[in-house]
Amino acid sequence: MIEHDTWGVILDRTREDELDTEYSIFTWDLGKVRAKAISVRKPAARLAGHLEPGTLSRLRLVQRVTDGNFRIAESLMEEKTKDPRAIRAMIFADQMTALLQADISLFGFLKDLATGSFTGSEALSYRKILSIIGLDPSEAVCANCGSKEIAYFLPQDIMFLCHKCLSEKKQSIG
Ligand SMILES: [Zn+2]
Repeated sequence: MIEHDTWGVILDRTREDELDTEYSIFTWDLGKVRAKAISVRKPAARLAGHLEPGTLSRLRLVQRVTDGNFRIAESLMEEKTKDPRAIRAMIFADQMTALLQADISLFGFLKDLATGSFTGSEALSYRKILSIIGLDPSEAVCANCGSKEIAYFLPQDIMFLCHKCLSEKKQSIG
């Protein structure tokens, strides 16, 4: 077992079943990790309240040497946002990032979201995240028609679209 004492922002709950719950956590030194907390929904397990998405926590993670999997041994909440826009931005950051790529600027911004120190709009928070990870929306054009009037970013395709092309794309899908 390797122990990591670190700070992290809980981005999302990624999976849960009767036995355990898995979280996506952006740590300042390891980057994003997926880590399981065992039986967090039992009333006795007080860990759960410190693992809500939107929480900045002091964490103790244990990593198994055999498979590299992480478990959450301890989480102590420092701050937590209840702003649904900040929580959506964190889910977006989760979609946009790979595991184990430390990014101190991104951690700093996610921390600002968790503590409420970022007061910009939701759209601005998405732009900040994109620009930190190197996809600068100010230089982006619509992937379909080349328009500079970008309205949407599709994480699953890593693609920007304008309003018109997005509605066309939606129609063609459904
Ligand atoms: Zn377009």
